[in-house]
Amino acid sequence: MRPSVPTILVVGDGLAGCLIAWELYIRGCPFTVWSDGSPAASDVAAGMSNPVSFKRILPQWNAKEQQDEARARYQLIESHLETVLWRDVPIVRVFPNREYADRWAERAAGGHGVSPFIETMDDADLHESIKAPHGAGLVPDAGWVNVVALTEASRTKWQGLGRWEQRTWNMTDGCPEGFDAVVDCRGTGAVEDLAAFGLELRKNHGEVLRVKPAADWGERIVNNVTWALPLGDGTYRVGSTYRWDIHEPICLDESPAALMQGAANARAIAQEMQCIEHRAGLRPTCFDRRPILGVVSKEHPHYHACVGWGTRGVTIGPTVARWTIEALLGEREAVPDEVHPKRFPTFTEN
Ligand SMILES: Cc1cc2nc3c(=O)[nH]c(=O)nc-3n(C[C@H](O)[C@H](O)[C@H](O)COP(=O)(O)OP(=O)(O)OC[C@H]3O[C@@H](n4cnc5c(N)ncnc54)[C@H](O)[C@@H]3O)c2cc1C
Repeated sequence: MRPSVPTILVVGDGLAGCLIAWELYIRGCPFTVWSDGSPAASDVAAGMSNPVSFKRILPQWNAKEQQDEARARYQLIESHLETVLWRDVPIVRVFPNREYADRWAERAAGGHGVSPFIETMDDADLHESIKAPHGAGLVPDAGWVNVVALTEASRTKWQGLGRWEQRTWNMTDGCPEGFDAVVDCRGTGAVEDLAAFGLELRKNHGEVLRVKPAADWGERIVNNVTWALPLGDGTYRVGSTYRWDIHEPICLDESPAALMQGAANARAIAQEMQCIEHRAGLRPTCFDRRPILGVVSKEHPHYHACVGWGTRGVTIGPTVARWTIEALLGEREAVPDEVHPKRFPTFTEN
């Protein structure tokens, strides 16, 4: 006999709620999305997918698998929504000093975990606007997702199917009537409820700009710690800031000048740029930069967390949404240990 299919409440409709809902929709599982319209990190996300950690020139966690799955998933959603969401956009990394340049060249030559993801570049390959006194390297296999277009178009689709409501939900609401399980995609909205289980979800404040430079900056993302991402209409997303001491999604007066100076430092000629937009959000983040997935309490077996997507929600999202739903549906025994709540030393399962 075919096991009965549970009806699932998805709480939150940022990127996490969106990708969970798509995972369910594609499988034909019944679901409804509730979201209360509180500020979402996903409304601010630049949307970059970068397989390389530039600080120490290392591959990101499961970089190849996650990025391949992400690209395929966004392209599948594109086909349902009939809109373009994913673009392949290489990243040019401007080297900060000679030592970094030498390490990049050594690793690009092969034999290192990051080698498949990075290449060296000749000065002649650089866009004429770029200033790189110590040289630059290339991450050819990077991408960009229009997160706002994705979440908005998905919301419209669920609304059209009668599967979306503007409603709030908290742990004390339990599993509402008519549902068999709740998937919590509240981002930083889950901080207080998860703290009750010893799970610390931290708010990482970040800001981004949209700027219009007087001259063209080319069609690749340029990263000199500050990054500039081409949006294809002569404007660029520039970011971002990272602060642990601000717990509201507020825009700081001093940030536009600092970010524009950072972007200007990678350019050969000083030029005017106009700031068109300035936004702030709170990244939901865990101590080890991995999300929290799955059941957190024997007393609340209906509750499944899918939070803590941190700085890399775009890339990890499709994989971790799949793990969450596979565990919920019993297709796998549990989520992998690396994203399981039990990895928190403070976790109190009850
Ligand atoms: C400045 C900045 C730049 C970023 N750039 C990138 C990038 O380039 N690449 C990348 O991969 N990631 C980036 N990120 C990170 C990315 O934004 C996050 O990983 C991702 O958006 C988190 O999505 P989420 O759905 O978990 O949370 P959110 O987007 O915050 O969504 C939470 C949802 O829950 C709802 N909600 C909250 N509480 C309740 C409640 N009680 N009841 C009902 N609904 C509720 C909210 O309204 C919202 O819909 C960036 C983030 C910031 C701030």
